[in-house]
Amino acid sequence: MRVLLAASEVYPFVKTGGLADVAGHLPSALVGEGIDIRIVVPGYRQVLERAPDRETIAELRLPGLSATIRVLATRLQARIVVYIIDTPELYDRPGGPYIDALGDEWIDNAHRFYVFSRSVIEIAQARADPSWFPDVVHCNDWHTGLIPALLHGERDRPATVFTIHNLAYQGRFPHAVFQELGLPTELWHPECLEFYGNLNFMKAGLVFADRLTTVSPTYAREILEPQFGYGLDGVLKTRQGQLVGILNGIDNEVWNPESDPWIDKNYAIGTLDDKVVNKLAVQREFKLAEDPERPLVAVIGRLADQKGIDLIVDAIPEMVNDLEVNLVILGSGGRECEQALREVHAVYSDKVGLMLGFNEPLAHRMEAGADLFLMPSRFEPCGLNQMYSQRYGTVPVVHAVGGLVDTVVDVSDSSLEDRTATGFVFHNPRVSDMLRRVDAAIDLYRNLPFVWREVMINGMCRVFSWQRSAVDYCILYQDALENRRP
Ligand code: ADP
Repeated sequence: MRVLLAASEVYPFVKTGGLADVAGHLPSALVGEGIDIRIVVPGYRQVLERAPDRETIAELRLPGLSATIRVLATRLQARIVVYIIDTPELYDRPGGPYIDALGDEWIDNAHRFYVFSRSVIEIAQARADPSWFPDVVHCNDWHTGLIPALLHGERDRPATVFTIHNLAYQGRFPHAVFQELGLPTELWHPECLEFYGNLNFMKAGLVFADRLTTVSPTYAREILEPQFGYGLDGVLKTRQGQLVGILNGIDNEVWNPESDPWIDKNYAIGTLDDKVVNKLAVQREFKLAEDPERPLVAVIGRLADQKGIDLIVDAIPEMVNDLEVNLVILGSGGRECEQALREVHAVYSDKVGLMLGFNEPLAHRMEAGADLFLMPSRFEPCGLNQMYSQRYGTVPVVHAVGGLVDTVVDVSDSSLEDRTATGFVFHNPRVSDMLRRVDAAIDLYRNLPFVWREVMINGMCRVFSWQRSAVDYCILYQDALENRRP
């Protein structure tokens, strides 16, 4: 089976979050399952810089579009073809894939992802590269939502799968944008792309794809409810029969404490005492006192409301003073969250280390060095860091939502007894509830170190692999192919 995976981010070419990890790692696992997979990504500046050995496959001239679109090809891990949609005036810019250097959304985002979607369709219909055409196009998040909608009108089209990585980002634009893009007028309908008077890219994918997935079984249930559905729960309910949750995996080679090149001292279950070397190194790096005993809590992530950064900011005084822990925080994103963290850091700079920015090697060192990993997300489609943490023997404390429910087993008498306990889970996104679970974790860490070690080891023994996800995606692709909608 041939599959074309379309994504706006692909690790290691460009990454702002978990979507890039999925698009960069799932394909290799799919190759292992016998899938002939290719990837397509916009030609952002970062992508062009990281793909020096690219060749030009085609030049596209699309009706109604003045831009010249070149389709380039490079390879991921030397074996997977990656098509790059090269339109310099749309993608080759400083700043991020979605926002400029000041943090504002690119004003032409609708146009950028419309052109990307049209180009993907040319590849899908073998009009760009006649030597290859897919049986299934696997679209990811709103940037690719128009693909299933526009492919729907094509003859002999491939089947389409649309994966929701985060329903909070939908790509909503005024009606005028719908007209400017010249989208087929019959699509302007509440049962198609219209969403309360606006154009909604995500909705296009949800309505038209043959099969829908999201990145954890719990999130697949949650998004059918208004609390997590961001206005699209009604649309999703109508497609409930075609929606499944497939848990993301992690790359067990990139995230492996035994061989991680970025950490100070490699370790494994049999050499867990060596983990403390990494703790001391992280304390040094964040200019905190080197102290092997004092619990060290790590936080890594996008600084968005979703991640519950406000809860962390509010909890810091009690955590550092009463629970006597230190924190190390790495993140980038929202200006307000950054400012709040800067302020609390200024007060507690001897107990709290803060690095603002995107720093992958440091993320590895923090996973290796911390004792606990705090993730109080208000919603979490899957989440990756809680899985990395378990692999590194760093015990996660998480809010019971989405993928966090599916990947962390709360410490309790019974889960300790059957050796499934891997972390601490709280059920209300409130500072007091979170602190209660952090307190329980610190209590175990200080007073029952043997039990603490068991929890670390339980986590390190869990297998979160892409191979398991790939098997589920193969079944889904087959299903989409056999049940293509007329
Ligand atoms: P989301 O996709 O919502 O941002 P995920 O947990 O699914 O959250 O994925 C986030 C990914 O990005 C993880 O691999 C995480 O380690 C990484 N990450 C997030 N922020 C940073 C940062 N500031 N520096 C390094 N890595 C980061």
